[in-house]
Amino acid sequence: MKPYKRDMYRFPWSLNDNPIGWLEITDKCNIYCRGCYRLNRTGHKSLEQVKEEIRFLKEWRNCDNISIAGGEPLIHPDILEIISYIRELKLKPLILTNGVKLVDNRPFLVELKRAGAFGFTFHVDSEQNRPHWKGKTELDLCELRLEFAKMVADVGGLFASFGATIYPTNQHLIPELVRWAMQHNDIVHGLVFITYRAAPSDGTYNYLVEGQPLAEMEVPYLAPQNEEPNFDFTSRHVYAKIKEANPNYETCAYLGGTQSHDSIKWLIAVQVGAKGQSYGSIGPRTAELSMVFHHLFNGRYMAYTNLHKLPKIAFLLGLFDRELRKTHANYWRDILRHPQRLFQPLYQQSIGIVQAPDILPDGRQDMCDSCPDMTVWDGKLVHSCRMEEWRLYGTYVTVQPQEPGKAPVIQPDDIPVVNRN
Ligand code: SF4
Repeated sequence: MKPYKRDMYRFPWSLNDNPIGWLEITDKCNIYCRGCYRLNRTGHKSLEQVKEEIRFLKEWRNCDNISIAGGEPLIHPDILEIISYIRELKLKPLILTNGVKLVDNRPFLVELKRAGAFGFTFHVDSEQNRPHWKGKTELDLCELRLEFAKMVADVGGLFASFGATIYPTNQHLIPELVRWAMQHNDIVHGLVFITYRAAPSDGTYNYLVEGQPLAEMEVPYLAPQNEEPNFDFTSRHVYAKIKEANPNYETCAYLGGTQSHDSIKWLIAVQVGAKGQSYGSIGPRTAELSMVFHHLFNGRYMAYTNLHKLPKIAFLLGLFDRELRKTHANYWRDILRHPQRLFQPLYQQSIGIVQAPDILPDGRQDMCDSCPDMTVWDGKLVHSCRMEEWRLYGTYVTVQPQEPGKAPVIQPDDIPVVNRN
């Protein structure tokens, strides 16, 4: 089933050379989102602890950007100082926010920019408990997304992308979201879809810590008892939905899983078009060249760029890249029909898909290979999506199928952990 790994570039990221450093500065939040990975237990981290974690990520991840997450990072009292400190260390501070603090608050946005913010990924979806937007559909929420995108564009010089968790309730609206983003590709620089995952609570599995079954799993990503246990909607399903909206969409790069040879955990595309258009995508060769050159000249890989307008000379990369040649041909077809577009800028817009951890039938957990979102917990790098296990039990939880007659296969995660000592 498309997309095929052989047609894409596998990002060369690894544990110690990864463009993203994931920093959680608080576990408090001002709204509640279904599917959130974090329990509100300890509140804001101190500025000193945050700075130490930033230095840790810079040293051990060789990162290009710091993704400032939480909880909701904009409610941290030292957010401006945190952003400035990241800039001082010559890293890009990218803020992952629900945006609630920015509603009708342009002065705060200006302050964040002055402090050195690189940009924002706004998490907006219909399963959030968002004030004034309860009961709204994914499409209604495009009004709020547009408000954020316009505000960020008005302040200028900032990256703006939009993330949404994909549930059974909103998966059918993916094509509409893609159309909306394409329509605003001059101010919407990216979209990220994260497939909803929850650990089954229907008795399919036992959950164990150091070989001992847990009487009760407390992590927030345990499926509620009444929930349909299997929402098996993968990155490939999201890909097919995006194709419905834009037949020119094609992916260029991926990360696989740690256990399943055929899973695709991160799936990335970069669309190219005039305002409101998509001529097509960049291909794996362009993705590879940009990654390799960035590393060659900057000493680290790159996940986010503020190059939103694509110079037309970039089409020369079509010499190496078949997908980009197709995009270039579509560009000229469109120019013949609309010659005035020859003088209009070209925009690039990324579409990322993240397929969160999967529990396989034998109990193994298929994580993202070279996980880009590892964070710091107690002097170690751990998957941010499973940090709650460390906070509650001091280790990862392992999983054992309950099916009678089936030999339990409990495999300790082969996740490498860096110890500071
Ligand atoms: S394994 Fe890493 S990248 Fe994948 S969902 Fe978890 S934290 Fe994110």
